[in-house]
Amino acid sequence: MYTTTYKLFRAPRNRNLKRKTWIAHTIWNYFLGWQRTRYSLGLPYLSYKEMSRAFTILRKAHPEMFAHWRELDSWAARQVLQRLDEGYQRFFKKIAKRPPKFRSFRKPYSFTMCPSGYKFDTPIAGDKGFGIYSDRVTIMGKTYRFNLSRPIFGTIKTVTIKEDALGDFYMSVVTDHIQSHLKPMTGNAAGFDMGIKTMLTCSNGKQYQSPHFQTGAMDKARAANRQLSTKQRGSNNRARARQHHARMHRKITRQREDHHWKLALELVRRFDVLFFETLNLDGMKRLWGRKVSDIGFYAFLEKLKWQAKKRGKRVAFIDQWQPTTSVCHVCNTRISLELRDRTWTCGHCNTHHDRDINAAINIVLVGASTFGVKNVRLAIAGSS
Ligand SMILES: [Zn+2]
Repeated sequence: MYTTTYKLFRAPRNRNLKRKTWIAHTIWNYFLGWQRTRYSLGLPYLSYKEMSRAFTILRKAHPEMFAHWRELDSWAARQVLQRLDEGYQRFFKKIAKRPPKFRSFRKPYSFTMCPSGYKFDTPIAGDKGFGIYSDRVTIMGKTYRFNLSRPIFGTIKTVTIKEDALGDFYMSVVTDHIQSHLKPMTGNAAGFDMGIKTMLTCSNGKQYQSPHFQTGAMDKARAANRQLSTKQRGSNNRARARQHHARMHRKITRQREDHHWKLALELVRRFDVLFFETLNLDGMKRLWGRKVSDIGFYAFLEKLKWQAKKRGKRVAFIDQWQPTTSVCHVCNTRISLELRDRTWTCGHCNTHHDRDINAAINIVLVGASTFGVKNVRLAIAGSS
């Protein structure tokens, strides 16, 4: 599965899409309300199948009340119910802490279609291979133009339309296309320690700082938020301030994503096997506070895994309870360290350590022994 997102051109006709997202929204809220009422009356949960059947009956029995439901492609409407059911199933299986929530109409929403809902131009043999090179798509009978940043390859499985907080529409296209860029192997393996100030420390001694560009953008976002709160409710000024606020946040998100992709690409180019500690987000939050979510380790690792898969590389995680920070990597002596001890000297073998580099080296050593990687050089600072 391969997902690409395209931005639709801004056009007055996009209001049709807005209406369709709104309908998807009402279906979600209607059935969620129903499930909650049933729960409060002590009735059992309605399964996806039952919701789907009820959807058809309601649409037929009360055409005056649910006329708008017909405007949405029926597969897309059922997909909303499916999403709702998945949300509940995650809650029942204790993967999610809370059941699904009502969606605010202020917030953007999306809908997903199967091939009955959209139509692209016929694929042709272009300069990048056989695929769709036209920037037009027909969605439920109306044609829209989008920014074709790259051709669409493979068979299209689903198309999702989503609006962002600024009123721009995006289209995510899922295809069965397998993209691979197998590169010659470098024969290197490395371990990485994650941190706040230094985002990643590599076992070869290189440190990747957290991006500073974000602080500037965040100040602006904070200022925008203050501006927003001073404006009168329901006024045009407030609407404009809200847009400005949303634009600032979108910029932060995009800058972060861009940085993540570039870093991920650099790392998979340099190493064949990359070892990390299993992410313990709760523990990290206790240690460092809210800043953890600003860096987005989880999102970064997801991108790194994707890049690695595409290039035939490997990302592996070692057990989070393995001591990595408080062990000397030369002689394996355990010592007790405070968080503020950035450098220390081992009392047993007299090696002087940088805290993060030592941790990263321990991660690559533990990783190499647990996963039994062969034919790779371990990137270790100070040894060559
Ligand atoms: Zn030592």
